[in-house]
Amino acid sequence: MRPYYLLTKEEILKELETNENGISDQEAKRRLEKYGYNEFKEKKSKTMFQRFLDQFKDFLVIILIVAAIISGFVGEIADSIIILLVVIINAILGVIQENKAEQSLKALKKMAQPLALVIREGVSKEVPVREIVPGDVVILEAGRYVPADLRLIETSNLKIEESSLTGESVPVEKNSDVLEEDNIPIGDRKNMAFMSSMVTYGRGKGVVVSTGMKTEIGKIADMLSSVEEEQTPLQKKLEEAGKWMGIAALIICGIMFFVGILRGNNILEMFMTSIALAVAAIPEGLPAVVTIVLAVGVQKMIKRNAIIRKLPAVETLGCATVICSDKTGTLTQNKMTVKQIYTINGLSDKKALIIANLCNDTKIVEENGKLRTLGDPTETALIDFAFKLGIDKRKLDEMYPRIDEIPFDSDRKLMSTFNKVDNLIEVNVKGAPDILLSRCKYILDNENIREITSDDLEKIKRANEEMAKKALRVLAVAYKQVENIDKENAEKDLIFVGLIGMIDPPREEAKEAVEKCKTAGIKPVMITGDHKITAIAIAKELGILKSEEEAITGAELEKMSDKELLDNVKKYSVYARVSPEHKVRIVEAWKKQGQIVAMTGDGVNDAPALKIANIGAAMGITGTDVAKEAADMVLTDDNFATIVAAVEEGRTIYSNIKKSISYLLSCNVGEIFTLFVATLLGWAEPLLPIHILWVNLVTDSLPALALGVEPAEKEVMKQPPRDPNEGIFSKGAGIRIILQGMLIGALTLFAYWYGVRYGKERGLSFDEYELIGRTMAFFTLSLSQLVHAFNNRLELKSVIANGMFKNKYLNLAVLISFLIQLIVLSTPFLRNIFKVTLLNRELISVVVLCSIAPLVFVEIVKFIRRR
Ligand code: ATP
Repeated sequence: MRPYYLLTKEEILKELETNENGISDQEAKRRLEKYGYNEFKEKKSKTMFQRFLDQFKDFLVIILIVAAIISGFVGEIADSIIILLVVIINAILGVIQENKAEQSLKALKKMAQPLALVIREGVSKEVPVREIVPGDVVILEAGRYVPADLRLIETSNLKIEESSLTGESVPVEKNSDVLEEDNIPIGDRKNMAFMSSMVTYGRGKGVVVSTGMKTEIGKIADMLSSVEEEQTPLQKKLEEAGKWMGIAALIICGIMFFVGILRGNNILEMFMTSIALAVAAIPEGLPAVVTIVLAVGVQKMIKRNAIIRKLPAVETLGCATVICSDKTGTLTQNKMTVKQIYTINGLSDKKALIIANLCNDTKIVEENGKLRTLGDPTETALIDFAFKLGIDKRKLDEMYPRIDEIPFDSDRKLMSTFNKVDNLIEVNVKGAPDILLSRCKYILDNENIREITSDDLEKIKRANEEMAKKALRVLAVAYKQVENIDKENAEKDLIFVGLIGMIDPPREEAKEAVEKCKTAGIKPVMITGDHKITAIAIAKELGILKSEEEAITGAELEKMSDKELLDNVKKYSVYARVSPEHKVRIVEAWKKQGQIVAMTGDGVNDAPALKIANIGAAMGITGTDVAKEAADMVLTDDNFATIVAAVEEGRTIYSNIKKSISYLLSCNVGEIFTLFVATLLGWAEPLLPIHILWVNLVTDSLPALALGVEPAEKEVMKQPPRDPNEGIFSKGAGIRIILQGMLIGALTLFAYWYGVRYGKERGLSFDEYELIGRTMAFFTLSLSQLVHAFNNRLELKSVIANGMFKNKYLNLAVLISFLIQLIVLSTPFLRNIFKVTLLNRELISVVVLCSIAPLVFVEIVKFIRRR
């Protein structure tokens, strides 16, 4: 068979049994069954069993297994069974958690999955890229990824960047002409578009020739890895810290072991104590808790319209100090309405509207008998307005068919079409007034065309400024007649016709969000392609800017050196008439100032700025695939307020993770302290390894998770942003963890001592009073930790005075853990395994008092700290 690029359009359509109107949905379904989904085969993900086995590679788990075996050998069968049980439960939980994390990542990926625009039975519609089949007719537009390998059948200024395939980053100009030569390299197949390359300019139409693994990229990317997992800085730090804690624990164990032996303790007993200590020192539940809290946080953000594409962004969001936002659609509603038309004598309005309608990509479609406009709001506003005055774009297009075009782009800020008018060609241009005016040599004055004078220019500029002051977005329109299409010179020596001003009201919620930013120590910055005066008017309304000195234009920015910009960047809150590349400079300047910058973007050209920003936020509705791919986060509602909401979530998530970590670690410290002091005092074992394991993995985990989903503290958005370099143990947090842990440890030791003394006074045997002491220690440890969980809900504020039981998850978690402990105590079988006994009323009162003590102590300390 001849390669597709050698076939003519007719041949290719015949070959693939399709036509320019595309196939039907049923046919697509049939082909989907035949050819399979348009996706790459993923590396097989691990089976559940493999995952389960993986859990046993952990160093700690190996220590535990060794401990279980040794215990078994020396006859402590119950110990050995319990340790193994806990290890297995832990492994199962690990697998569940890993699976969940992967599922939610996959789901996220699916949400962010691009759609492709295809024509089926003559109607264009968006379908998921994976459902595209050979024979589908695909429409390409700037900013979209090519969804499959296509033979192009129609192009208009189409440029495609194919670096993923060819390594060449300069976009290739494409056309639909038949090629003559066989066996040419991919980069030279000008009438083909390849999957995963991206459209950077213009548009086109192509027939799908191959999908999935049969595409050129599929052939080389044989087995693409499945979901990529990225750890957040905090997770990385914790992993690192975990390693150190493990090593430290081993060293302490070693020392304790030898101290014990020197003191003449039993070797086996000392071994078991060392194991208990190792277990006590390592926060087993921590990584799982952090992962789960992050996953839950990401879900919460989705509910608030922010899809996180890169997990580390969750943390970075909480540190954001500057939010640079586009204006149109993000801070404003992107609902444009034409308010005013200006022409030099007030008589050429109709001509102005005709140009604005011809030079316009909006489509008028009929839906359920009603007419609807489909396109960019700036352009639909023009169509709607003209339609009301009896100008119908469809009729104009019939009379003056478009033969070519120079598309709009935010760098040139102009758009032109070439329309056939009798035997001539008319160039119709619309664009930003300041730019278009510099291209005009003539002016339409009533019905005369004459040279434009400086007086005219003055008048037009004044009219423009007046409209802009009213927050109107202004477009200028011009035209000229030519004999042939010469794109180089098309936008020169034009005839100016008029200005059209349209209003785009600010979003209701944007004002509030700006206010919130300010109290949260975050600087909102507006970046827009619009005129400076329009931008200032809207920025004032939103509260972004107070004095006009805070606004600067792209042209002024261009005159500044990087150094000057760096020195002055803090002054500006509005950038007007900027091009996408200016965004990169703005982000870089802020970053050099040590700020954490969030930046929004939608177009192809915004991708570099989105990548450089600490948090790139792409528009979900108007954003191109390219922008979304480059971003860390996608705003499904294109709304500025969503970024602020995401920052709030980011701050809450971090603060909650910190609460969980503080809680778990202070519990660990309590356990280490208990064992260490007991050894120093030469006491027998107040806590057995199984007690500690049980507390760490069973009774502590639920409250720690519940702390991770604490509702946001009222103050989250009233504090300045967190310094990203600030560790979780800084600002005294580390010391507090240690002190709180020591308190828990001291209480546990006291309870043990009390129980032992109580038994001794009543003449009980060693085994008997040891049993009482240990029971007291075990229950004091576990219950005081449950009470201590409440302390961690609020860092500085009193929990008692601020709704102690407001986190219902925590209430439930503590209740469940408490019931579990009651069951352990009340079941003879479990009592046996855990080596505990029933206590009388006096002893129970001591345990209860000791358990409540951390709440009282911490409340007192918080009170003093607040003073
Ligand atoms: P942002 O989204 O960055 O806040 P913006 O959407 O206003 O700003 P652009 O879309 O780049 O920025 O528009 C810049 C200017 O280009 C506008 O002020 C307008 O004068 C002109 N313009 C916008 N859309 C078109 C269009 N479709 N055709 C011609 N000119 C346009």
